[in-house]
This record gives sequence, C-alpha cells and structure tokens, in this order.
Amino acid sequence: MLREIVGVNRPLYSTRIAAGEQVTMAKGGRARKLPSGATAALGRGVSDSVLEVLTQAGGDLGEAQKIAQNLIDILPVPVFIKARDGRYLGVNRAWETFFGMSRRDFLGKEVRDLYPGAPWVAAEHQAMDNDLWQRPGSQSYEIKIAMPGGGSRTTIYHKATFNGPDGQVAGLIGTIIDVTGRKKAKRALRESEERSRQTFELAGSGIAHVGLDGRFLRVNRALCRMLGYETAELTGRTVKDVSHPEDRNVTDTDRSRLHSGATDSAHFEKRYRRKDGTTVWADLTVAVARDDEGRPQYEIAVFDDITERVEADEALRVQTERLHIGQAAARMIILDRDIPSDTLAWSDSPEWLRGPLPASGRYPTFTEQVHPEDRERFVATRDRALETLQGMTQEFRIVRTDGQVLWLLARQKVFANDAGKAVRMLVALTDITDRKAAERELREAHDELARSNAELEQFAYVASHDLQEPLRMVASYTQLLGKRYGDRLEGDAKEFMAYIVDGAGRMKQLIEDLLAYSRVGTRGREFRPVKLEAVVARARTNLRAALEESGAQLTHDPLPEVEADEMQLAQLLQNLIGNAIKFHGAARPQIHVFANENENEHEITVKDNGIGIEPQYFERIFMVFQRLHDKGRYPGTGIGLAICKKVVDRHGGRIWLESAPGDGSSFHFTLPKKKGNHHHV
Ligand code: ADP
Repeated sequence: MLREIVGVNRPLYSTRIAAGEQVTMAKGGRARKLPSGATAALGRGVSDSVLEVLTQAGGDLGEAQKIAQNLIDILPVPVFIKARDGRYLGVNRAWETFFGMSRRDFLGKEVRDLYPGAPWVAAEHQAMDNDLWQRPGSQSYEIKIAMPGGGSRTTIYHKATFNGPDGQVAGLIGTIIDVTGRKKAKRALRESEERSRQTFELAGSGIAHVGLDGRFLRVNRALCRMLGYETAELTGRTVKDVSHPEDRNVTDTDRSRLHSGATDSAHFEKRYRRKDGTTVWADLTVAVARDDEGRPQYEIAVFDDITERVEADEALRVQTERLHIGQAAARMIILDRDIPSDTLAWSDSPEWLRGPLPASGRYPTFTEQVHPEDRERFVATRDRALETLQGMTQEFRIVRTDGQVLWLLARQKVFANDAGKAVRMLVALTDITDRKAAERELREAHDELARSNAELEQFAYVASHDLQEPLRMVASYTQLLGKRYGDRLEGDAKEFMAYIVDGAGRMKQLIEDLLAYSRVGTRGREFRPVKLEAVVARARTNLRAALEESGAQLTHDPLPEVEADEMQLAQLLQNLIGNAIKFHGAARPQIHVFANENENEHEITVKDNGIGIEPQYFERIFMVFQRLHDKGRYPGTGIGLAICKKVVDRHGGRIWLESAPGDGSSFHFTLPKKKGNHHHV
C-alpha cells in the first residue's frame, strides 16, 4: 500500500527525493521512526516543488497554487498542513473523512484539540513537530492514535517542512497512512505461520515438503524419528533413496496425475527403509502445493507408520490360514448362526459336509440335513442350549447329498445380549465318522471277545466236568485191577500200573483246577461286604494240615472289610497263603497278611520268607499252567495264580508281586472301594 502511494506521488516529488531526510524519534517512545526507504517520497518544501513543476509547465503562480490545492484535496490519503506556530492551516477531504471532522470546525486549531481525550497522543505529535522545527526536513513515524469517534488506529505519519517566501520554515505538510489493517494482517500471518510451523514440527505424523525433483526440502521430527535419520541427513536426499527397493516406484503413476491436477491428493501404502536397514510400512498421503498460477511448487507428504497394523494384519492372515488348514485337516467347520436374522455363516466351504454340489434346494436348513433318526434329539439339545445359554456338546448323524452318512460332534456356544436373549451361536462341527467306526469296531471286538471268552469258559467247564466221569472210571477200574490182580502182575506190569494210577490222579487234579478256573467267570456271585479277617481265618482252617506239617506261622494285621465275592476272595487268599507255605525255604515259613488303603482302593499283601522268584518270571506265573519247578519237588498244576488273577480282574483290581530269589515274596492285590466300578470279564 505504502509503495503504491509513493508510486503515484513520485512524478510530483521525484526531483528532490530524500534531499533533507532526517531521522527522528519521539521522546515518549510511542512513536516509532521508520526505515529510511519508506520515507523517500516526501522532500523538503513540497509546495515549492509542486509549484515549480506547475509554473514550469506554463501556468501562473496563482493558477498553479489552485491546482496544487485541488490535487492535495483529492488525494486518497489524509493530508494536513500546519503553520510554524502549530495551528492547522488546511486539511484535505480524506483527512476529514479519516477523523470524522469538518475542516471548517478545525482550521486554526492545534493538535491538542484533535485529541481532547488522549493528550499523550497530542504530546507525541507535538514533540515530533518540535523536532522538525529544530531540524527542518522530513520525518516519518509510526504512532497509535486515538480517534475522536472512539477506538484507535495504527498509523504512519510522514511530515515535511516548507519554507515561506522569506526562505524561513513556514510550516509543515503531513500525510497519514493507516496501517491498522496491514498490521493485523501481518500479525495474523505471523501467527498462522507460527501455527503451521508448530503443526509441522509437532505433528504425530511424519510430514515432508518434497521438491519437484523428488528431494526432501523440509522434514519434521516425526518423520526423522520414523525413518531413523537426523533432519540434516534427510534434507536433500531423495524420497526414492529411503524407499524400500521393491516399493520405489509405486507412487509414480498417481504422482503424475497429481501434478497434472487430475487429482487433489494421492494415497499410498508403501514401505521405506530406515537408516538401520529395517523396514517401515507407511500410509502416505501426497498433495501438491501450487503458486497463484496453479503451477506445482512442491509436494506436501504426510507419512503414518502403519508397520504394526500391517504386521498384525499379516499375523492375522497367517493365523486364519493356519486355522483353515487345521480345520480342514481336522475335518472341522465353524458355523456361526446369527439368531435375530437367522443367517448362517460357515468358516469354510461345507462341501465335505453337504456332499457334492449341486445340492441347492436339497437341504434348505442344516436341521434338514440331520439324520431323521437323530433330528429330534438334535433339535432338542440345540434348543436347550439356546434357552439355557449353556454350551452343549452332542453327537449326531447327517446325511450328505450323495447319501453318505457322517457322524458329527457339535460343540455349541451361545452368546446372549444384555437382555439375556440368545443372539448368536457358534458351533464347531467335527467329522467323527472314523472315530465312530473305530468305536463300533472296538465295541464289536470287545463283545466278540467277551462272547468267545464265555464260550471258552463254558467249554472248559463242560469239558472238565464231562472228563471227570470217564477219568473216575479209569481211576476206579485201575484201582480195582490193582486190588484183584495186583499179586498176579509181574515185572513191568506192576510199574505200568503205578504210572496209570499216578497219571489219573494228576489228571483229576488238573481237571478240578481247570474247573475251578472256569468257575471264576461263570459261577461268580454278587459282591457283598466281606470281613477280610474272617476270610483269612477260613483259609487257616482249610490249610490246617499244610500249616501243621510245615510248622508255618500265619499272622495278620487288622484287616478291613471289603466289597467282594466272598467265595472267590477266600479262594484267592487260600491260593496265595497255600503257595507261601508250599514254596518255603530252609527256614520255618513265616506268612504275614496286611492291608493298606487309599481313597479309591484297598491293597492287600501276603508276604512270605520262602524261596522267592526271579523277576523275569513275574508276568509268566499268572498264566494258566505256568510253573517254575518240576512237579517232583513242588506239587501243583500251575493254575493257582491264574485263578488269583482272574478273581482280582473280576473285582476290578490289580495283582503283582515283589520278590527276589532267597528273599521271600510279597504278593499284592487291590480291591476298589467304590461299588459299580467293577468290570466283569
Ligand atoms: P502251582 O502252585 O500249582 O505251581 P501257581 O500258579 O500257584 O501254580 O504258581 C505258579 C508258580 O509260581 C509256582 O509253580 C511257583 O514256581 C511260583 N510261585 C507261586 N507262589 C510262590 C511263592 N510264594 N514263592 C515262590 N514261588 C512261588
């Protein structure tokens, strides 16, 4: 503005520009002297020079003065003329408008009359005037003035002295330039620049100004932090320099569209290389800053570090993929049912479940695919889950489009809204057809085994039972033969006869034992509470002869009451105690029975000080007809322990032993405490 006014005025004053320029400072300090360049327009003795120009142009002096007066009057800036004594000689129209005062009212008055309410403003002007009177020439100063109508304006005063006809300073002429708006604008600009500078610097996002040659012109702290460079290292470097090699050119196409003005901004996700070589993913937005003519000046680029998000996305993708692979491998499908909208979402193509396509229309709902025999139960369980909001697990069959029947295991989880109503149900469906088939095979095999076991037992029983009769005949007739014709037999015949008697006896024993063995399964009785001490007492009675003969000592600790088949338990203990007597060593047999218990079972032990057993036989001796010694030394059939094992099995317990040759043996067996836990073989 100032420059423009000066420009307009120049032709008038140019001849004596700045001739007597002087530097002035108001004493109050409020008025501020301006730099010399701004004051160049007003020279000393303006009216002189104007008149000079005008008279030289051919007019007479009076005419010239008139023209000058008119000229001043129409100037758009306030102009005033003061006499040497400080009284106002004239003001122009712009001055009248500026102060809202008519010249008629004011001419002849002094500056203090202009600021009745602000004497300090008048005083400052006065001081500047005084300066000028002392050092004639021109002066400029900035001053904030109070307006007669209220309010204030920031102004620049340019003043210059003029001389009278006597060559002495006669007065001054001044102009006022109102810079209030300009000041405000300047301040606003400064503030906005400061704000944008702060925004630039303090922004959480990386921001850069990038030259059209692709080099960083300006970078903020966040960008430096993101890329791991110092400001100085980044400025001047090209953006491609710090881009990830593979992403170096991804912005090229969109960038040319951006420059041409086809788009306002462009958006990218691309990778950059940090100084340390690591990769950073950035969300990048680029806009172009243009000059007034719309020519691109530079790019403004905003970078956001999205590495974490990208990595999380990737991790999620990998995990989802893994889940899918896992689901496919496990033949598992997740079914997501939105209850309000009654829509189903499947985690995967349910083709293995539905059967080959086209299946459309065949099974409009999942329920219809459920095997007719299982459907009612399926629906009831599912609805119960929805009602109680409890997770449910159920197994059911479905029929595929090709008729194949699959067994599914469904684990349902129900989600409720705040009102406690089921809104969503997640179901994990697993194909358990193979497992079901295996289960069935196992069950069938088990049934088959049980059946053949029973048959075998039956056979053993029948066989041994039926064998007894002919055997008895052999034995009794051999005895008869011996009695009647014994003395007539000679040599070998007598010996043969003895063999027959012995064989028949042993066979009888074998058959009896086999019978006893088969009876464990077939003739078992119900389990009842049994006092173990009574059972031991009974064994002692039955074994009295053997005990006396060997001089064995049988002792026991207090024994519990157990749940068992009393007869079988008696047989079990009798066999163990009997063996302990039979397989004694040199020392007098000592047999001790005691019991331990835990939460679930009783453990009963029969301990002896006999010959002991080598560990390698620990398993074998529980099998039928397995013996470790020849019958001459220790009589027996090798069935006693097999019967023990069978009895313990039937009671749901275990039997084992601890022993070492020469160190005696301890036979342990357990009996479960809880009823109904027994398994019958
Ligand atoms: P048997 O007593 O009719 O021979 P068992 O089945 O009762 O048949 O025992 C099998 C074998 O285990 C016996 O022949 C014997 O070798 C061994 N045995 C059993 N009990 C004892 C024991 N208390 N001490 C040493 N050996 C034993």
